[in-house]
Amino acid sequence: KQFTGKVALVTGASSGIGKATALQYAREGAKVVVSDIKEDEGLKVVEEIKQSGGEAVFVAADVAKPEDCENLVKQAVAHYGQLNIAFNNAGIGGEAKPIGEMDVESWNRVIAVNLSSVFYCMHYQVKQMLQNGGGAIVNNSSILGQVGFANSAAYVAAKHGVVGLTKNGALEYAAKGIRVNLVGPAFIKTPLLTEAGMENETLQMLAQLHPIGRLGEAEEVAELVIWLSSDKASFVTGAYYAVDGAYLAQ
Ligand code: NAD
Repeated sequence: KQFTGKVALVTGASSGIGKATALQYAREGAKVVVSDIKEDEGLKVVEEIKQSGGEAVFVAADVAKPEDCENLVKQAVAHYGQLNIAFNNAGIGGEAKPIGEMDVESWNRVIAVNLSSVFYCMHYQVKQMLQNGGGAIVNNSSILGQVGFANSAAYVAAKHGVVGLTKNGALEYAAKGIRVNLVGPAFIKTPLLTEAGMENETLQMLAQLHPIGRLGEAEEVAELVIWLSSDKASFVTGAYYAVDGAYLAQ
């Protein structure tokens, strides 16, 4: 078990990619801080981890609020004494409209939840990790951190922003023992897609955008996050890793 003795924090861990990653961190021996705005679902993830012999605690946090991100790190340390790994994953899709019709509030919300949140989280995480002799941060961007997608300007801008934030984090903390990397998933079959009211037909159409011919699974993203979080990736920092069925290769 590669994370024995380590403490891993996951935002947006009640569902989808965050949940799959929290379960894998626990399987690899980490004590996991499961965080989300959805408390009931988060407590279920904690229960699932405990039932398979792992250790986890739920801490509610709205990552759009800096004070929640600060408290999240404080709670991680209060429970487990340190913080070694963080997966900044919480995010929302936002409304599907072209720029001329996108509400300003809708823009602000997506930027707050998908971009400013990553700054808030990293701000408190790095300070703690420095006290623990280093750490690994993985931020969840998207293929849409590299290319555009019509009717998703706020999402695309936020995900591109996360790429820049990650590069800066890597530069500023590389010599201090903190690695900061990005995963860039293509369309993954999670509630983000299915609960956005997408019909089967739309999902099929999205699947066809991937040369591999299907959507990804949350576990397939989690595998990459696990590797980037581990000592096996000790020389990897400031990097964007696509997990996208060749979407970006086109
Ligand atoms: P999901 O909806 O299954 O999970 C997202 C989780 O984030 C939910 O549990 C939700 O409650 C939580 N969340 C939302 N707003 C929050 C807030 N303000 N504070 C704290 N938690 C909040 O979706 P997912 O597909 O697992 O998405 C996870 C991440 O992956 C997101 O950042 C998303 O942009 C990114 N991503 C998803 C896809 C995809 O196709 N599903 C592709 C690329 C990137």
